Amino acid sequence: MSERKLLMIPGPINFEPSVLRVMSTTTPSHVSPTFIRLFGEALQDLKKIFCTNSAQPFVIAGSGTLAMEMAVVNLVEPGDNVLVVSTGYFGERYAEILKRHNVKVDELKYAWGEAAKPEVIKEKLEDKNYKIVTVTHVDTSTGVANDVESIGDIVKDFETLYIVDGVCATAAMPERMDEWGIDVILTASQKAIGVPPGLALLAFSQRALRVYEKRKIKVDNYFMDIGNWLPVLKAYETGQAAYFATPPINLVFALHQSLRLIVEEGIENRFRRSKIIGQAVRSAIKTLGLTIVPRKPKYAADTLTAVHYPNNVNDLDFRKTMADKQGVVVAGGLGKLKEKIFRIGHMGPIAANDVVATVSAIEKTLLVLGYPCKLGEGVASAQKILQEL
Ligand SMILES: *Cc1c(COP(=O)(O)O)cnc(C)c1O
Repeated sequence: MSERKLLMIPGPINFEPSVLRVMSTTTPSHVSPTFIRLFGEALQDLKKIFCTNSAQPFVIAGSGTLAMEMAVVNLVEPGDNVLVVSTGYFGERYAEILKRHNVKVDELKYAWGEAAKPEVIKEKLEDKNYKIVTVTHVDTSTGVANDVESIGDIVKDFETLYIVDGVCATAAMPERMDEWGIDVILTASQKAIGVPPGLALLAFSQRALRVYEKRKIKVDNYFMDIGNWLPVLKAYETGQAAYFATPPINLVFALHQSLRLIVEEGIENRFRRSKIIGQAVRSAIKTLGLTIVPRKPKYAADTLTAVHYPNNVNDLDFRKTMADKQGVVVAGGLGKLKEKIFRIGHMGPIAANDVVATVSAIEKTLLVLGYPCKLGEGVASAQKILQEL
């Protein structure tokens, strides 16, 4: 069987060959001039992705979950009140993480498929003093995007720190850290950033750094304490080296290369491209008579699309036929939507023809599994929108 597959899952994504190539270079010392230069440039480019001049970026070995935990452990102290806005699986995970750290967690929970209501968050913040509010930009379990900008406008009027889990959005959907008053953005390499799994990426605003500095109690985790990392990042940003723990050198090379490609395309162009691709996928899905998980079209994320299976289409059969017969890998559901939905990831360096191939594979697979649809109808409706690219 052919090993060629088109990977259309919400991370890891299809990586650019040039990004993969730089990973196979000989590993230099972490204090070598080459590494110092490339790491320094990557940190500068990260600020462009986060749309910030003043925030401090961090690049740490780990996954998105480590980034989630690192964002909060540095800012909470025992007894603090934290509000978790939960619109799916990763919102629930944030509450679980926080409960391990001796804080009082209130969850503002929405049905899966719904987006958070900014005015309800406002009422919550008026009711109680929260040290932190966390919001998942795109919950990967549902494909719902929260209105990070409007929520930011509200949080700005409070002392509360605003943490955004951007793992499935950063570098594909706007997250204007400075303008929208975001205090911490966290993400991971393998999603829209376009680098193989292994990097936790964060940025802390100056306000968040001040809260860290005023801590009374040390961070209850050694590796994740930003106090250990700050001198290291500041050194690399100014053309010097410093050591706290060995950096994942080859992954940093890949990060440097992927960020170069994103900055060359232009971050605003990338946001626009993601939006058009998202619209094209959703239009095809609708034409095929299928429904997406987000309950309103305006909630739909640009980075992935979660689709309900039609009656009588079995999850394992669908994904196996897609992968083995059509060579296209899509993801199943997470948590309570397991076996009920499939998810198409469409972020990063994705091309119009990847969308066409995926929609065409979905049509053929559905037909084989007994769902009545006309070959080419979904493709035609996607193509119409892809012309805008
Ligand atoms: C993927 C994802 C995570 C977890 O990232 P890992 O790298 O799998 O640990 C967290 N939040 C969101 C929104 C995600 O999509």
